[in-house]
Amino acid sequence: MLRIAVVGSGPSGVYTAQGLVEQSTVAGVRVDVLDRLPCPYGLVRYGVAPDHEKIKSLQNNLRTVLEDDRVRFLGHVEVGPGGVPPELLLRLYHAVVYCVGAKTDRHLGIPGEELPGSFSATEFVSWYSAHPDADPNGFALGARSAVVIGAGNVAVDVARMLARGADELRPTDVPHAALGALAVSRVREVHMAARRGPSQARFTTKELRELGALPGADVTVAEDELTLDPDFADPAALPAPVRRNVEVLRGWVGRPPRPAARLLRLRFYLRPVEILARAGRVGAVRFERTAPDGSGGVVGTGVYEEIDAQLVLRAVGYRGMPPDGLPFDPVSGTVPHAAGRVLRAGAPSPGEYVAGWIKRGPTGVIGTNRPCAKETVASLLQDAPRLALRQVPSEPLDAMRELGLHPVTWQGWLAIERAEAELGRSLGRHSVKIADWAGLLSAAAPRQG
Ligand code: NAP
Repeated sequence: MLRIAVVGSGPSGVYTAQGLVEQSTVAGVRVDVLDRLPCPYGLVRYGVAPDHEKIKSLQNNLRTVLEDDRVRFLGHVEVGPGGVPPELLLRLYHAVVYCVGAKTDRHLGIPGEELPGSFSATEFVSWYSAHPDADPNGFALGARSAVVIGAGNVAVDVARMLARGADELRPTDVPHAALGALAVSRVREVHMAARRGPSQARFTTKELRELGALPGADVTVAEDELTLDPDFADPAALPAPVRRNVEVLRGWVGRPPRPAARLLRLRFYLRPVEILARAGRVGAVRFERTAPDGSGGVVGTGVYEEIDAQLVLRAVGYRGMPPDGLPFDPVSGTVPHAAGRVLRAGAPSPGEYVAGWIKRGPTGVIGTNRPCAKETVASLLQDAPRLALRQVPSEPLDAMRELGLHPVTWQGWLAIERAEAELGRSLGRHSVKIADWAGLLSAAAPRQG
């Protein structure tokens, strides 16, 4: 028998569970996938934008794994203070794999960052994704101009969500309060500002291209900001993904915007230096214009520009948080490891593993988690003969219940899904996400075994 706990039911956790049951030569392998939330799928449910239905449909693949007889989903189980202490978890299972992602966002470290009206993109994403920790009424969208800082896929996601009309989002599972706020949004202009040039932008071409195809919004780019990029003159020499981005941007130069459309302005070579207050809240963002330094970086030019904005979303990357009881490298925001084995004082700690963003940092698309999980699974299974020598309880749930925890089982999750479908029907929409803890837990409760 080999009993393993996977902490986190996002893509890295589920791919880890899948690898464990598919690759283990031990017939009696059992994997419990624990999640702090009552719902599975991590950022696929609470990060992928509602209009990205194809990516969201990955949930179906993850579901197949969580429905495997050898795998069990246990939601609403926090590992750490108030939940299961990590040292207890290690006694309940032969091994624990932490797949807890990167829980917070990076900061800009500029004055005005904390002004009312300035948010991390994560807060906005959590709001439109119905994360139960987010305030369902957290965004009123009374701003006429919004600035999105950053040039990664999260910046593109939040800029696109601001530019979309509510009618386009009605068929999605976006929570009803957010849909209502988007329906009366006054946002007319969205400025997405990158501190470096187009060839250094981190967004992917598919996501970029989508901005040019929004029914109610038009994209503009300033030609002089594109041509400032030394790589722009000869895109043929660029790596294919960068070349494709540059070509898409080039196609948007001089495109006349439709008069009634929202405007999405993609800006480059602007480094944010201050968020300026007007009447006690965000009024503008002050940027220093930058210039390429010849090696992919930028230098300041001493020339400044202010963009009026009543809403600022900072999309400058996620950041890992120290998981309770594990070593942590604050510089990289990851847990030190060797091929997924957690390192304590430089040596592998028996039975402790990591996969996903907490292992390698917040980079890559969902699929990147597959090879990452595979490496960790290979390490764990190599160690399994030694790990399995230790006696563990036959039912770890008993110890969790003794702690006063009431895990949401797979049946509970299916009940949440049914309640969301019912909520959608009652609102004349498809399935609509339940956006609060009480609603999720009461939907899950009647089915608890
Ligand atoms: P990201 O790809 O790392 O992009 C962060 C952006 O913030 C970069 O443009 C970066 O510029 C900028 N930035 C960082 N610090 C800054 C500062 N102090 N001032 C101004 N700009 C700053 O992060 P992300 O957008 O959060 O995405 C995280 C991961 O999730 C990525 O791998 C992404 O592809 C993935 N993701 C994928 C999808 C999708 O597939 N649809 C959707 C969402 C997220 P520099 O390059 O100059 O540092």
